[in-house]
Amino acid sequence: MKHFSAVMTYELHKQLVGHLIREDDQEDLCFATYNPGTGTSRQSGIVSSIILPEEGDREVHGNAEFSPQYLERAIRIAVERKEGLVFLHSHPFPGWQGMSDPDVVAETRISPAAYGATGLPLIGMTIGNDEAWSARFWTKHPIEKRVYERQWCESVRVVGKQLKVTFNDRLLKPSFDSGKQLRTISAWGRKTQEDVSRLRVAIVGLGSVGSIVAEILARTGISYFLLIDFDLVEYKNLDRTLGVFDSDVGNSKVDAIKEAISRSATSPNVKVECVQHSICEERGFLEALNCDVIFSCVDRPWPRQALNLIAYAHLIPVIDGGIKVRTNKLNTKIIGADWRAHTVGSERICLECLGQYRSEMAKLESEGYLDDPDYIEGMSEAFREAHENVFPFSAHLAAMEVLQMLSLFIAPSGIADVGLQNYHFVSGRMDVEESAQCQEYCFFPTIIGKGDNCGVQVWGRHPKAEEARARI
Ligand SMILES: [Zn+2]
Ligand SMILES: [Zn+2]
Repeated sequence: MKHFSAVMTYELHKQLVGHLIREDDQEDLCFATYNPGTGTSRQSGIVSSIILPEEGDREVHGNAEFSPQYLERAIRIAVERKEGLVFLHSHPFPGWQGMSDPDVVAETRISPAAYGATGLPLIGMTIGNDEAWSARFWTKHPIEKRVYERQWCESVRVVGKQLKVTFNDRLLKPSFDSGKQLRTISAWGRKTQEDVSRLRVAIVGLGSVGSIVAEILARTGISYFLLIDFDLVEYKNLDRTLGVFDSDVGNSKVDAIKEAISRSATSPNVKVECVQHSICEERGFLEALNCDVIFSCVDRPWPRQALNLIAYAHLIPVIDGGIKVRTNKLNTKIIGADWRAHTVGSERICLECLGQYRSEMAKLESEGYLDDPDYIEGMSEAFREAHENVFPFSAHLAAMEVLQMLSLFIAPSGIADVGLQNYHFVSGRMDVEESAQCQEYCFFPTIIGKGDNCGVQVWGRHPKAEEARARI
């Protein structure tokens, strides 16, 4: 079944609140445009820019009405931008909003014109007086002419320093066990648990850090997991992959971790989907677009580049981290070990500007050079992959990454951005840098919210992943 969701930046949300939520409590309306973000099972509408009403475009009298010329102008602008049309209005009540009869009449009337001109379904959105959004797509009936069907969104996401989600209670029910989760709920309350239990979370890379992130999230009450990794469990993974045992060697990592999550999950309705692909393959990339937040537990440049693109173009925040262990030449002594955790996406510095990957290296990897032993032999030491690691390092980093996600989502005491965290094993200290901005000429801030229309394709053929799948 296809799911629907709408998403926008916090900046746009603030502008819309300023226009739609009136001090005189009357309803108001406006149009906007959106870019599609198309996942395998979820269609998102990414609101991209507002078309505010001009003189004579609308009348406000309790509930608002727009003039035909305003609709025409909005459609013309959407067509020029090659984007879809959004019709937004406000209600003087809190929470997820249903539709009144006049609402249905208005949106049913706009749908054919919007679809006919833009080729994309109309999105109708309503904001409550508590700034909670609700939304629906009006999709064309596959057979009957001029019939448009209302498809309610399961959530509306606002992404800034914080990830704020309004859930549609009818389509996405909270799911928790108040007995098992007594202590968790007594820490942060029922409402937080309800929201946590409905978040769609992807983990990309199920190695040491990813497997521990999975365990922590399962205990915390996450119900929906998407696991993306093409690799198989090897004997050498057993010292630092949680929930994976001798009997799993030779099986796919995603299936092994799915088992582990099913054992540890505290949510009564846990659902784990496994994708034995790379995030750099079309299937892996499009599956990730079904999620609200993504953990980047990979250490290669190409997957990081794909995740960076998703964070900005599709407004899906990415929590990333990495461990660097320094040893003497003979690998007999540890000199230092440092790990870092950070969240990237709208209003935050990107993975490339953070130095987490270089686009030249992503290109080399996509062309197969980083898997060519002769090529690697000739590379300077600084660019070679390092694999030294110890379980507690990964456990600490995994906890830091989940804490980054909890700050992003529940913003304790209003703080959603805890900055860029760097932990140093030798000194036992953590440095925290304030979140910075991308460099002046960074590409990623230019594609915020562009979704499917961002003009870049990062996925491609991945022979290593194909080969791993063939071994099962
Ligand atoms: Zn209404
Ligand atoms: Zn950047």
